[in-house]
Amino acid sequence: MSIKIENLTHIYNPSSPFETTALDNISFEVTEGEFIGLIGHTGSGKSTLIQHLNGLLKPTKGKILINQVDITSKDVKLQDIRKNVGLVFQYPEHQLFEETVYKDIAFGPANLGLNEEEIKARVVEAMDLVRLPFQELRDRSPFELSGGQRRRVAIAGVLAMKPNILILDEPTAGLDPKGRDEILEQIKSLHQQVQNTVILVSHSMEDIAKLVDRIIVMHKGKVSLIGKPTQVFKEVEVLESIGLGIPQITYLMKMLKENNIKLREDILTIEEAKAEIINWIRGNKNA
Ligand code: ATP
Ligand code: MG
Repeated sequence: MSIKIENLTHIYNPSSPFETTALDNISFEVTEGEFIGLIGHTGSGKSTLIQHLNGLLKPTKGKILINQVDITSKDVKLQDIRKNVGLVFQYPEHQLFEETVYKDIAFGPANLGLNEEEIKARVVEAMDLVRLPFQELRDRSPFELSGGQRRRVAIAGVLAMKPNILILDEPTAGLDPKGRDEILEQIKSLHQQVQNTVILVSHSMEDIAKLVDRIIVMHKGKVSLIGKPTQVFKEVEVLESIGLGIPQITYLMKMLKENNIKLREDILTIEEAKAEIINWIRGNKNA
């Protein structure tokens, strides 16, 4: 499913001493099946933006079209939006509330009106996607699990709705590097399997650089940069001026180039850099 955002403005507490313009006339489009990384400093408006995409927040001004349907119109039911747009909140484990893992993950599918058999199939599949053992954990209380496991239960609850658009707000925040890499790997692998539209909110360029098709950089409620990772990383000065860097490996490749070591410029991962540097050394030996 595609997303089109037109001139979206959101003002919290308008006409009060606490008035904050969190989104300031934002426009962009996401095509069906795209994987987008949304990045920006604390308070830049990322969470405010994505909460508009499932109808949780209403625009002060502007429109949001999902598959050409304006979801801000009064005729559109929230339930219909949420069938299509799955939103995993920041620290989603804080919202677990059922007494078992099974019931928590089944909550969304049950609300879709599916039968028991179909609900169970959805729970099994969602737990498998986030690598949680079904038999072992189904009857456990979410509150007995580790932080990382609780996070996975919460993500599974959204995946079990099989949303066409999956939005995740900092899904790896607070996890150790292993947990972080696993969750990102699972999101990527699901995207490759089903070609869903994904928006992944992150603070970390390193994390998103190697995953996404395009990056949207937000700054003070506006879109500051938008493009393929290699295009966005060319704007080092802009990124640094708003407190974001480029991945360490991209800095290294830039530095080598400045020293007349000619390498490809579109390198985003350590593996690619290694291959490119080895190639360069071999080429030089033969020269
Ligand atoms: P973070 O990286 O810390 O999660 P963010 O990019 O998600 O930040 P938002 O949470 O969207 O940023 O906040 C954007 C602006 O809106 C900030 O100035 C914030 O203080 C303000 N804001 C967010 N939520 C509310 C609210 N419920 N009421 C009033 N102001 C809010
Ligand atoms: Mg946020």
